[in-house]
Amino acid sequence: MAYDFIFKIVMVGDQSVGKSNLLLRYTKNEFDQFSKVTLGVEFASKFLKIEADQQYVKAQIWDTAGQERFRSVTGAYYRNAIGALLVYDITNRNSFESIPKWMKELKEHADPNIVMILVGNKSDLKEQREVKHEEGLKFSEKHQIAFIETSALNAGNVDIAFKNLIHEIYKISK
Ligand code: GDP
Ligand code: MG
Repeated sequence: MAYDFIFKIVMVGDQSVGKSNLLLRYTKNEFDQFSKVTLGVEFASKFLKIEADQQYVKAQIWDTAGQERFRSVTGAYYRNAIGALLVYDITNRNSFESIPKWMKELKEHADPNIVMILVGNKSDLKEQREVKHEEGLKFSEKHQIAFIETSALNAGNVDIAFKNLIHEIYKISK
């Protein structure tokens, strides 16, 4: 398919926060309850039309193959990335506390103008929530990035999260 823009987007965040399932939900509208470290893809692509300008964007979204467990996600993964989803799990405070570390990684290895969105995933697990919505919001405001809570399981806000990021990247790229 022809496109006007191609954006490389990376998913970062601790292991098990739901990165692979967010990608699976967005690109294939599927969910994998038993997904372990990798779903076997390096990246998945999705085409998007920017209605206002009649322009086509190819979003190439990269997923880790479990390297985040060893904190060895570097080099090729971040190279030329112009967008990033910083993902934590709302039922896992440690994963939220890791976000500054992932932000630092991005700033060191990716494009200095990289556009980020903070994503609090597993919003369906309300009873197990450890990180308040306000906490995510406060962090995002402090760092002037977008914020959204999602559920890869019930698909809540998943499309909006990716679309919001892609539109922000488009604004600085056109
Ligand atoms: P990754 O290590 O960050 O890629 O996380 P995965 O996508 O492999 O997900 C880790 C585990 O969390 C798997 O058992 C998923 O089924 C589960 N999971 C992922 N997203 C959600 C979600 O939105 N809600 C719930 N309840 N479970 C999820
Ligand atoms: Mg994964």
